[in-house]
Amino acid sequence: MLAGCLTAILSVAASSQRKESPPDVFLVTIDTLRADHIRCYGYERIQTPALDRLAQDGIRFAQAFTPSPITNTSHTSILTGLLPSSHGVTDFAVPLSPTYPTWADLLHQQGYHTAAFIGAVILDSKTLAPGLDRGFDYYDNFPQHSQTKSRWGRLERRGMDVVERAETWLSAHPQGPHFVWVHLYDPHDPYEPPAPYSQIYKDRLYDGEIAYADSALANFMGYLKKNRWYENSLIVVVGDHGEGLGEHHEDTHGIFLYDSTTHVPLILKTPRGAGGAKMKVVEAQVRTTDILPTVLDLTRNPAPARLDGESLRLYFTGTNADASERTVFGETDYPLRFGWAPLRSARGQGLKFIEAPRPELYDFRQDAMEVANQYEPWNVQVKRFRVMLAEIRAKAPPGGDSRASIGQTTIDELKALGYLGSADAGSATNVPQPSLLPDPKDKIEEQNLLHRAMIASEDGRDAAARDYLRNVLQLDPKSHNALRQLGELELRSGDYVKSAQHLNQALEVRPNDATAAFYRGQALEKTHDLPGARDALEASLKLMPGQIGARLLLGQVYLALKNAKAAEDQFEAILLLRPSSIEGRLGLSKAQIAEEHFNEAAQQLEALSKLQPRNADAFDLLAQAYSGLGKQAEAQRAEARAKLLRTLK
Ligand SMILES: [Zn+2]
Repeated sequence: MLAGCLTAILSVAASSQRKESPPDVFLVTIDTLRADHIRCYGYERIQTPALDRLAQDGIRFAQAFTPSPITNTSHTSILTGLLPSSHGVTDFAVPLSPTYPTWADLLHQQGYHTAAFIGAVILDSKTLAPGLDRGFDYYDNFPQHSQTKSRWGRLERRGMDVVERAETWLSAHPQGPHFVWVHLYDPHDPYEPPAPYSQIYKDRLYDGEIAYADSALANFMGYLKKNRWYENSLIVVVGDHGEGLGEHHEDTHGIFLYDSTTHVPLILKTPRGAGGAKMKVVEAQVRTTDILPTVLDLTRNPAPARLDGESLRLYFTGTNADASERTVFGETDYPLRFGWAPLRSARGQGLKFIEAPRPELYDFRQDAMEVANQYEPWNVQVKRFRVMLAEIRAKAPPGGDSRASIGQTTIDELKALGYLGSADAGSATNVPQPSLLPDPKDKIEEQNLLHRAMIASEDGRDAAARDYLRNVLQLDPKSHNALRQLGELELRSGDYVKSAQHLNQALEVRPNDATAAFYRGQALEKTHDLPGARDALEASLKLMPGQIGARLLLGQVYLALKNAKAAEDQFEAILLLRPSSIEGRLGLSKAQIAEEHFNEAAQQLEALSKLQPRNADAFDLLAQAYSGLGKQAEAQRAEARAKLLRTLK
């Protein structure tokens, strides 16, 4: 009797203790996933059993929207609960300011063990997504100097690879609570699902990628169940953005803010009993910025001071009567990369407004495809949406920390547009009206072709890439992007004369493009136009002084022009930028030898040859320096050593 009682008390104590321990939190983001291409969202032509099963166990949000159609911007919004204009990560490689805490930061502070597993370099925190690794104990970046030519392992990881890496980490770190983020990149183009999905969906490879990503999700959910982590965990699965698939003439995503690229799936499974989930499907319009506040709410953690989203708990507890739709805002600055106007949108009460040089208004209750533009400037709803967008603009932090550290190339490109280059850009007063730039609607075919050319180029299909780029030039003979890409392509393929011509034209359109000037310098050097190469490289370095590659080439060009003093300046500048540069040291000694400063050269090379005892070039130069000093025996020894090293190679 007593024993039975004790057991009962103990089990009550144990269960209440279990209840108090914070739940594991798992976030799975599936890239480029249109909500309307998933079975539980009504798409009958696909099998997505893992997503469907999770929706059965949890809550499915039928109308969830991302504020951004671009991967790193959208993920930053999911992880911070902030709009792009609030967190500032509106372009690739823009660091996330430490001002804004992420899921990982906030849960880590509460004792969570945190790890992230990414499926593409676009989210690599060492290159394209700096700051996104904040708060993670482990962030599974890509190898920095990948030897492989294949895109797998260098640019992308298959979903199954990503989940297996996450499972390995979890098995090695069983101590909870965990926050683990898994990013499945598969549905992103190019669409290359593995077998059997490549066969089953051979006419719809995008769907094949989704079905494959679903199988990776199934593997991960199976692992969580096997380890008894599933039941008591909070699981969120969400798309980062959709895919155009030709709607509005957009092949992929990034340029437009139509539902095709902003309507995403969102499925939330609460820990057993938490929040008393009643609603299985929420029809109200919600946002991916609402996810973080929901997670903090359900795990009873304090929210940060600034959030653009709100907890979704009301939608699935009790009645849904009070929970009205949330106004969805959309922002894309990606068109700026091409020199076109950025877009802003607001969606609510059956209407979608898109601010563009030619603004748009759609009544999506009657016009789900957003094709009948009803915009009129005096429309009351348009005025209301414009006020909302102006409020967001006014709240956005001035482009201080984050924008100042955009890569130099990006700054120069934007500067050439007169848009974001100056130090105090972001204050609305000195930003010219975006409406002065071309409307992306008029440019989308160009963007499709440029995108196809980039993919073809990456695959080594140069002829196809060339055709796409020529087609762009037929649409717009002054397309800087097409001219520059053609210049790069011909430089790689060895047609240096053509390369220089294209790059020359690109620089006429945009004279401040330091990278185009560097490529032009390379092409001219190959055609033996040394003064031309010198001028191009000097121009490039004036715009972007930190380019080591351009300085190395310029140093060599000066040596060939018999201007050893100018060459020496370049190599010395390289060694200031990167003291360990072997090429910089070799170049410097070459210049010293040309200036007959044999002593300095010999000293430099003796040190270098000790550091690099297998570097034949160092011994060759050492032989020249010794011979300049009249040390014939040493010179012969160094020369013999260089010869030996070359035969060993
Ligand atoms: Zn994406």
